[in-house]
Amino acid sequence: MRQQNLLMPTLREIPSDAEAASHRLMLRAGLIRPLAAGVYTYLPLGRRVLRKAEAIVREEMDRIGAQEVLLPAMQPAELWRESGRYDVYGPELVRLRDRHDREFALGPTHEEVVTALVRDEISSYRKLPLTVYQIQTKFRDERRPRYGLLRGREFLMKDAYSFDTDWEGLDATYRAMYEAYHRIFTRCGLNYRAVEADAGAIGGEGETHEFMALAEIGEDTVVACGSCGYAANLEKAEAAAAQQAQAAADGEAAPPLERWHTPDIRTIVQLTELLGPEASRLMKALLYLADGKPVAVMVRGVDEVSEVKVQRYLGADQLELADADTVQSVTGAPVGFAGPVGLNVPLLVDREVSALGKGIAGANERDYHYRHVRPGRDFSLAHTGYFREVRLGDRCARCDEPLTLHRGIEVGHVFKLDTKYSTALGAKATSISGTKQDIIMGCYGIGVSRLLSAVLEQHHDEQGIVWPLSLAPFHVHIVPVAVTDDAQRELAEELYGRLQAQGVEVLLDDREERPGVKFKDADLIGLPVRIVVGKRAGERVVEYKERQAPEAEQITVEEAVKRVLELVRPAASRDAK
Ligand code: ATP
Ligand code: MG
Repeated sequence: MRQQNLLMPTLREIPSDAEAASHRLMLRAGLIRPLAAGVYTYLPLGRRVLRKAEAIVREEMDRIGAQEVLLPAMQPAELWRESGRYDVYGPELVRLRDRHDREFALGPTHEEVVTALVRDEISSYRKLPLTVYQIQTKFRDERRPRYGLLRGREFLMKDAYSFDTDWEGLDATYRAMYEAYHRIFTRCGLNYRAVEADAGAIGGEGETHEFMALAEIGEDTVVACGSCGYAANLEKAEAAAAQQAQAAADGEAAPPLERWHTPDIRTIVQLTELLGPEASRLMKALLYLADGKPVAVMVRGVDEVSEVKVQRYLGADQLELADADTVQSVTGAPVGFAGPVGLNVPLLVDREVSALGKGIAGANERDYHYRHVRPGRDFSLAHTGYFREVRLGDRCARCDEPLTLHRGIEVGHVFKLDTKYSTALGAKATSISGTKQDIIMGCYGIGVSRLLSAVLEQHHDEQGIVWPLSLAPFHVHIVPVAVTDDAQRELAEELYGRLQAQGVEVLLDDREERPGVKFKDADLIGLPVRIVVGKRAGERVVEYKERQAPEAEQITVEEAVKRVLELVRPAASRDAK
């Protein structure tokens, strides 16, 4: 492609409202332009990269036998009512009415549509297993669209859905998909982790993994063990017990409850200062409203409550911290003095608290705490579980090595749905024995447009993008320093022709621009190889530089062609394997 007429509006200045590096780079390198919040146009360079990502995804989906379909974005509300999601999905669902006043939604995901399809088309186990996928625009009216393609309101997703007759079948499909995802993200040059995730609202107890690109801008936290490979989303992660259970030993020594006057001491920080070494025995009680009903959660003073774990334990649709009025009416005291003793609401106790032989907690009375609070004696341990968040300093539950925490971007998600949607929509197949059974499903997403942002978060330097070969919009950038110079122009054209004839994707900077401008643009758009044709064109010598290499090399055109083919060809055939 020739650059002169290419719609590639690069920007010198840094867009001030773009916080994420990937967002800034996409705007500056002329990959995308915004139309509305979370809604973007892909310019030619951006479109090319997107197609590369799509091609990798397609190859790996086809390789495991998934069949490509294209499902409608416009979906009747009726279908969403059948699954029960029309009302619960909330304002993220883009709703509209047609000219006959019929209600529709723009698909944020396609479980309903695909399950209805299979219900209507498949009735026997003989047609199963089946996996279909599509690469399609999704619509989600996100509360906070941001960071460019990282969280859009209109974005490109690959979504796949599997249909099996038995659990072993689902296991095998899930495994194949999981491995395909590893190949996809590896081919995209991503530094990522597959992490155990929380099944959340989509399904029941189903096994689920998220694929997290490691990046500071990420909204998720990944807990990882460098030793045994354990990795989980913070929402799901559990660590080894932080302390040995002291209950039995301490129990005998635990004196009776003692009221302790703590005027105006309401925070853990204040208590910690007051207590000194004894602060390790602090217990805090937090009050929540779970679907509107008050519950209390106890964790150690040093820990944070994991709201996801609490919500999951309670099976609640909504969980929020109780307001001051609720705290007052439930505990009889203002915020800051809540404690477990005598509380009249369900009490969830983190197991680190239950392992404390005795501790200090609020007394549900203004300006008072209790000392020598004994779990099991002074409050019930009926709801004991893992309700805290893993934190730095925790050790791996499997191998006891230290855990590390990283920020991550969720680029993919694999999920065992079980029969949630097939039951709701009546998708059944006859089994070998002749009985009708709900089909067992899985769903598998990749944020294809988000993936580009994740790649750019990891692949850039101060000058601009450093594309991995597999996603680069072109492989080679040929930059004649002065196109008005006959020798330079002719050699550049010759190289352009020869490389293209060999299937190499080449961008030729045929603009009459100052060399400084051309080089800056070349670094900004970051193609893997730059070949500058300059003063030594007459000798058929060019300047060859791989984007991440510190220095350029002076080599002959013949050598340059050879080097490019060595770089591009093995990668292409390796990718296709
Ligand atoms: P998130 O927690 O980031 O909102 P999600 O759990 O809602 O993601 P899924 O419903 O599992 O996402 O969608 C599948 C994939 O689609 C995600 O793994 C992610 O890569 C991508 N994705 C989800 N929402 C967006 C969005 N608003 N913009 C771009 N990509 C998205
Ligand atoms: Mg979401």
